[in-house]
This record gives sequence, C-alpha cells and structure tokens, in this order.
Amino acid sequence: MVKYNRESCVAGKDPSLPVRYLTRIENIPQISPQERDRLAQVTAKYPFRSNNYYLSLIDWSDPDDPIRQLIIPHPHELEEWGDLDPSGERNYTILPGLEHKYNSTALLLVSNLCGGICRYCFRKRVFLNKKQDILSDLTAALRYLTEHREITNVLLTGGDPLALSTKKLQKIIHPLLSIPHLKIIRIGSKMPAFNPYRILHDPSLLQLMHTCAAAEKQLYLIVHFNHPRELTDLACDALKTVRRTGAVVANQTPIIRGINDKPDTLAELFRKLSFIGVPPYYVFQCRPASGNKSYTLPIEEAYQIFAQARARISGLAKRARYVMSHRTGKVEIMGLTEKHIFFKYHRAAAEVDSEKFMVFDRNPQAYWLDDYGEPLESQPLEIYQDILEL
Ligand code: SF4
Repeated sequence: MVKYNRESCVAGKDPSLPVRYLTRIENIPQISPQERDRLAQVTAKYPFRSNNYYLSLIDWSDPDDPIRQLIIPHPHELEEWGDLDPSGERNYTILPGLEHKYNSTALLLVSNLCGGICRYCFRKRVFLNKKQDILSDLTAALRYLTEHREITNVLLTGGDPLALSTKKLQKIIHPLLSIPHLKIIRIGSKMPAFNPYRILHDPSLLQLMHTCAAAEKQLYLIVHFNHPRELTDLACDALKTVRRTGAVVANQTPIIRGINDKPDTLAELFRKLSFIGVPPYYVFQCRPASGNKSYTLPIEEAYQIFAQARARISGLAKRARYVMSHRTGKVEIMGLTEKHIFFKYHRAAAEVDSEKFMVFDRNPQAYWLDDYGEPLESQPLEIYQDILEL
C-alpha cells in the first residue's frame, strides 16, 4: 500500500517530499471497502489517477469536499450522456495529435498523461484511446507548422505537457523556436495544481522556459485551477517562479457542479489568482463529454453564477470570458434578459462566423449551443463593414 502523510506534504511543509502517483483507489485508506466496491465499475470505464500531494488537500470528513469531487470517481459517471469528442476535434485533426481549427493557432497533443485525472475531463479519449490521439510524428507536425505561415501560436496540450520529462519537452519545444512565424508557444497544464513540485524541483524546466524568452518567443503557461483551495502556498510559489522566467501565466477553468458552482467560490478563485498576477482567461461551459452529466450545469444557470461572481471582484480579477468550445468555434455567452440569451463567436473555425452575434429564446434546460435551435437574429461581421463604408 502506498502511504502518504497529510501533514507532511501539505503546502510548504516539506518541499523535498517526493510526489507519488496512485492509479488504484484501493491504495487510498480513506475510501472504505464498500465504496471501493461501488467505484470498481467506474474506474474500469474511466481511469483514476492522482498523487499524495493532491489527495492531501482533501478534507475527508466532508463527503462534498470540492477537491474530492474533482479527483475521486463517483458512480454517477456511469450515466450515459455526451460523447468522447464533444468539441468535434476530429474535424480539425490534420494528423494524429495535430489540430488546426483557428487560422492562427495550432494544437499539438503531446501527452496522454496528466498529474491527475479530473473526473469531468473533456479529453477522456486521450486516456481511453491509448496513444492514437497523441502526436507520434513530430517531424510531420513541424513540417506542417513551417509550411503554414498563418500559424503564429502553437498550443501544447494533451493530457498535460508537463507530465512529460523536460528532456522530451525540449525535443518538442527546441525546433519550434526556429520557426520564424511562430511567435507564441502556449503550454496548457494543470500540473501546478496537481503537483507544484514538478516546477519547483526541476531547474531544467525553468531553463527551458528562459530559452523561449531568449529566442524571442512568448511563452504562455495556461494553468487550470478550478477551486481556490488548489492555490496552496506551494502552487502559488510555482506560478511565481514560472512568471520570473518571462512566461505569462493565465488561468482557465470550467464551471463544475459540486466544485466551483457558487459565486463566492468562483469570486475567491478569481480574486486569489489576480493577487498573484495570474489573470483569469477563459471560464468554460462544461463540455457534454461522456461521464460528465452530473458535473455540468445548464448554460443559463452557469452564466448567472459567473455574473454574480464577477459582481464581487475588481476589474483585474474579472478579465475572464465565459465561453463554450463548440465544434464551430469558441462562443462567448454575453448575457441574458428575461426572454433572450446573447452569444458571440469569440473565435470561429469558419470566417463567415467570425465575431457573429446571435440572439436566441432562452432555454433553461440547454447545456450546449445546439440545444437552442435556430437564432432569432444573428449579426455577421460584414454588417459592421457596411456601416464603416456608409
Ligand atoms: S488536466 Fe485537462 S486533460 Fe488532464 S484530466 Fe484534467 S481536464 Fe483532462
């Protein structure tokens, strides 16, 4: 049995403590044998992964503890709902692990591992489909990025790129530095929340981040903190350390039932992030991914939580946009009236949808854009061009 000690690995108490990963809930003493039996079917379908540091953040006396909800499987995941590719990523896949949806941005799925597995994960397919969705031909990907001069941003994602060794990450990042039109390298990672030691104990990773700055590429670390309790002293130290390398750090989170679906919780998360210089970037509508039904809120309920959270914080803390990653683009939820809801394409896969504004009748049961049917009104970008030409 893997042992861990809550006291010794809580934030900042023993920075030399090695982080040990767990993939079997049988190894968590706080989970009773009865509960283990109930969860066996869930973990057979959707794997479990965490580590002693992250589990130490759970208050085991509270069955509704948000960190527990985030990482410990639950039988409600077996409810049939959604699919494994809720944002239609397959439509934009050029080759395994390389996606090109928005003109200026390409995604490289470089890892099928994370520091933990979030129960609401929208990319469960990378854990379930073994390696078939992950980049296998780096040379072909680099060729594509080099030939497509419109690509100025590359996002390394997965899984979590920081689950790779720094040596493997170097092999991916170093060749990107010599592609002249590539100006921004983004790394999407929840590792600072799951395991801040990954950053604090690896000077070579920080050196790699410095190398990006020296090559005049702007590195963005897009982190994934869902709840203010994840922002431990250690996690904050890790974020500050990354910022000192010249990287920009920003946070994104979905709104998740049982984890951050209270305005006060979300406001506290945004506030704490702003205090350490990490702007909230996107807040996502939870995607209709397999296993996610009980973690998801209807769009209109989630919007109201988001709006109420924003009302409690300063301008610097409320820079996030509330968006849904639809197969046609990133659609921002702009606001509600008694009868209507307003959306706007923040990023569009097709030029014709770029900046398009849409008005729909309200539907309190809607979880996704498709649940709204046809818009009552929509305003394409050309309308503004017509006005400018008057
Ligand atoms: S960090 Fe992202 S990819 Fe990894 S399990 Fe969580 S949601 Fe999924």
